[in-house]
Amino acid sequence: MFDKVLIANRGEIAMRVVRACREMGISTVAVHSTADANAMHVRMADESVCIGPPAAKDSYLNIPALIAACEITGANAIHPGYGFLSENARFAEIVTAHNLTFIGPTAEHIRIMGDKVEAKKTAKRLGIPVVPGSDGAVSDADAPAIAEAIGYPVLIKAASGGGGRGMKVVQGADELMSQLSLARNEAKSAFGDDTVYIEKYLSTPRHIEIQVLCDMHGTALHLGERDCSLQRRHQKVLEEATSPALNAEQREKIGAIVSDAMRKLGYIGVGTVEFLYENGEFYFIEMNTRLQVEHPITEMITGLDLVREQIRVANGTPLGLTQADIEFRGHAIECRVNAENPVTFKPSPGRITNWHTPGGLGVRVDSAAYAGYAIPPYYDSLIGKLIVHGRNRTEALMRLRRSLDEFIVDGVETTIPLFQRLMNEPDFQNGDYHIHWLEEFLARD
Ligand code: ADP
Repeated sequence: MFDKVLIANRGEIAMRVVRACREMGISTVAVHSTADANAMHVRMADESVCIGPPAAKDSYLNIPALIAACEITGANAIHPGYGFLSENARFAEIVTAHNLTFIGPTAEHIRIMGDKVEAKKTAKRLGIPVVPGSDGAVSDADAPAIAEAIGYPVLIKAASGGGGRGMKVVQGADELMSQLSLARNEAKSAFGDDTVYIEKYLSTPRHIEIQVLCDMHGTALHLGERDCSLQRRHQKVLEEATSPALNAEQREKIGAIVSDAMRKLGYIGVGTVEFLYENGEFYFIEMNTRLQVEHPITEMITGLDLVREQIRVANGTPLGLTQADIEFRGHAIECRVNAENPVTFKPSPGRITNWHTPGGLGVRVDSAAYAGYAIPPYYDSLIGKLIVHGRNRTEALMRLRRSLDEFIVDGVETTIPLFQRLMNEPDFQNGDYHIHWLEEFLARD
C-alpha cells in the first residue's frame, strides 16, 4: 500500500481524503495556495506544501507544482478529489509518467467520458440506454431531417459543452435554424468549438445517477442510485439515496446494466453514470470519472467508505466484494451548504464568526469550516455538507429538519434557510419533484 498520498485539492474534500488515509495508516500531504495557508485541510494533513498564489490556475491547477510537491515530500500517489484536475486526462498521464499513482481511472477512460459525443457512443455500445438523438455531430444541412425524425421538442447540445452552456431547446421546425446558429455561437465562444448534436428534449425528468465501484481484477459493482433532481442552474442543491422514484427491482435492473457496462469497458475505480429518468425510462447523459460531491449519501446507505475503496483499488488490491455483499440500508439526504444569500444566491465570502454543527444519531457534517475561518473569495462557495441517515425517508426527513435548526453559522450568509423552507413543501415531503421543480419553487415568490 502507498505510504504517502498527496491530495491535489482543498476544502471539505481534502479533509475527506485525509480522514480515509489516516484510518488506513497512510501519511498525507496537503497542498495549498497562499490564500489557504490557514485552511483546515492544511492543518489536518501530516505535511503541507504551498503551490502558488490564490488563483486556481496558478495553484490547484498548477501541474508542475503538484508533481514537484510529490518529489519533495516523497508522496507516491495523488488523490485529485473532485473539480480542479480530477477529470483532466493529461494530468493523469503526467502523474503516471512520473512513476506516481493517479487515484482514479485510466487517462483513456477519462478522455472518452470527457467528450460528450464519444461518451454517448461508448455508453450506447456498452448497452446503456441513451437519449434518442443524432449519432454525433450535426451539420446545418442535415439538422431539419434529424430533428424531424427525433420529434419535437428537441435539444441542441454543444459537443464540448459543460455547465449547460451552448444548450438550446427547440419547440418546432420554425425555430430550428435560428436556435442552431445561437447554440453554435455560444459553443464557439465558450469552448472554441461549434460542434453540436441533437437530442430528444425530455420535459420533466428526474436526475438519477448510478454509483459504480470497480477494481483491476474484473469486479464491477453498482452501489445503487442517487436522486439529484433538486437543481438550480444545473447545479445540484440537495441529493437523496435511494431515489423516491425507484423500487428495489428497478434499482437492480439499471444497476446491473451499468455494472455490466463498466465490466466490459474495463473501468477502474469509482465513477458515476448519470441519467435523466422519465416515464419509467432511463436516458444516459454523462459519466463522471471521479468521486462526486454527493458520494456520502451512498456511503451512509451502503456502509462503504468510497475513498478507502478508491485508494485500495488504485493500489491494485482486489475489492473482495460481490454485488450480493452490497446492501442498501435506510435513506440518506445531503444538503449542500453554500456561503450564499439563500434568495439571490449571491456568494457571501467573509469571516465565519460562529460555527456550530448539528450532531447526534445519523448526522454527518463534512466541512473544512471553523469559527474564525475567513472564506476566501477565489473558490466555490460550498462550506459544508449536511448528511443525515434514517431507517426510512420519513425518519431522514425528521432528522434533517432538526439538524438544520441546530446548524448555526454567523458572519456569512448560507443556504440553510432555503433548506428549511423546502422542508415545509408537500412536493418535497412526498418526493414528488423533477429537475425543474426547484427553479419553479424559487420563482414562486
Ligand atoms: P453539461 O455537461 O453542459 O452540464 P449535461 O448533458 O450534463 O450537460 O446536461 C446538463 C443538464 O441539462 C442535465 O442535468 C439536464 O438538467 C439538462 N438536460 C440534458 N439533456 C437533456 C435532455 N435531452 N432533455 C432535457 N434536459 C436535458
